[in-house]
Amino acid sequence: MAVIVQKFGGSSVADAPSIQRVARRICDTKGHGHDVVVVVSAMGDTTDDLLDLANQVSPDPPGRELDMLLTAGERMSMALLAMAIHDLGYEARSYTGSQAGLITDSAHGRARIIDVTPGRIQGALDDGAIAIVAGFQGVSYDSKDVTTLGRGGSDTTAVALAAALDAEVCEIYTDVDGIFTADPRVVSRASKVGRASYEEMLELAAAGAKVLHLRCVEYARRSDIPIHVRSTFSPTEGTWVVADPTAGGTMEQPIIAGVAADLNDAKITIIGVPDRPGEAAAIFRALAVASVNVDMIVQNVSAEATGRTDVTFTCPKGDMARALQALLDAQGSIGFERLTSDEGIAKVSLVGAGMRSHPGVSATFFEALSEADVNVEMISTSEIRISIVTRTESANAALQAVHTAFGLDADGEAVVYAGTGR
Ligand code: ADP
Ligand code: ASP
Ligand code: MG
Repeated sequence: MAVIVQKFGGSSVADAPSIQRVARRICDTKGHGHDVVVVVSAMGDTTDDLLDLANQVSPDPPGRELDMLLTAGERMSMALLAMAIHDLGYEARSYTGSQAGLITDSAHGRARIIDVTPGRIQGALDDGAIAIVAGFQGVSYDSKDVTTLGRGGSDTTAVALAAALDAEVCEIYTDVDGIFTADPRVVSRASKVGRASYEEMLELAAAGAKVLHLRCVEYARRSDIPIHVRSTFSPTEGTWVVADPTAGGTMEQPIIAGVAADLNDAKITIIGVPDRPGEAAAIFRALAVASVNVDMIVQNVSAEATGRTDVTFTCPKGDMARALQALLDAQGSIGFERLTSDEGIAKVSLVGAGMRSHPGVSATFFEALSEADVNVEMISTSEIRISIVTRTESANAALQAVHTAFGLDADGEAVVYAGTGR
């Protein structure tokens, strides 16, 4: 019997009637003869509320305790969902991440899955039960403490279980009809994408499209698990994320998959770096030792008079304080003059596999930004992505302008069924 993994996000299980609706959907799949494993997120904005509460109690809560607190959100929804399923006449058993065999490293708040041993889940399926697993959590192999995978990590739990159980598909149920060419909460005339490649989805997720957790897409690509992103609130077919979206069809893949913005980065400039070999190595080694996730990097041409240059990079806002401290600690050996930091930035990206073979994409992109009066502070590219850094206030105008310039606007407005987008 084919195993199907179904993941329901927070807005899909926000209250009791929603949990009952999700239970009916799960029983429907089970009724069609599938083995069903369900991964569930915390109800509505529970994770944010728990984080707010923690910060009221302490400005800097220990990672271990924060994980202990946050995992409670998913425990509530898994048990409630199992109860609702029982009411519909099916057997359901809920499991924490630890019970489901999600083994991670010990990095609290951003743990990585190192093994999945789903013996109890397989046992539940063998007994004919529906297995419900709490998303976004695991247990550390070393410390045996409870860990979380980072915000949005339930998607990754779902794909990891799908891979371990050799599932036919991993269905991600959410509050929109699938993956769109832009966040429908920002660009109302975003178009639904029928099929996307892992490669494009990886770039979109890294560019800030939070509809799928970045690591879930990495995991799916590695294990070749098809992901079907679809709505909890409507029966319509969603978006398939697969290795080759054109396989078996006659359609060419569109040039552009979509646009995305990321408001979670900060920019740091290191002023007056001596222009000699080894400086960049010293800077980025110091940042690596401090576990700073560096994204874009720009180095200015050095001023002839001083023989010094400026190096600018972006990193997550959450890493900024650590980055500044690490650089200050290494100032003596690096020899730069001073640091500046800026949290008012947004990264805006255009993604599409067709960029490789279609000239003129950059020209259209920068013309659209210029017509919308968007100032470009930094630029970076990959084979299938162009990203710029601009002011936070310019992000929505930039997204809208680029979306229109590439002909991505749909005739009607995209539906957002629920959720606060928080
Ligand atoms: P869940 O709680 O189900 O995990 P998320 O809030 O994490 O849901 O993800 C769904 C949201 O992702 C949508 O409501 C939408 O606002 C946002 N989103 C951002 N970019 C996109 C995109 N390109 N396509 C679809 N949704 C997107
Ligand atoms: N509840 C967690 C969060 O809000 C995990 C998830 O929903 O994927 O980030
Ligand atoms: Mg999510």
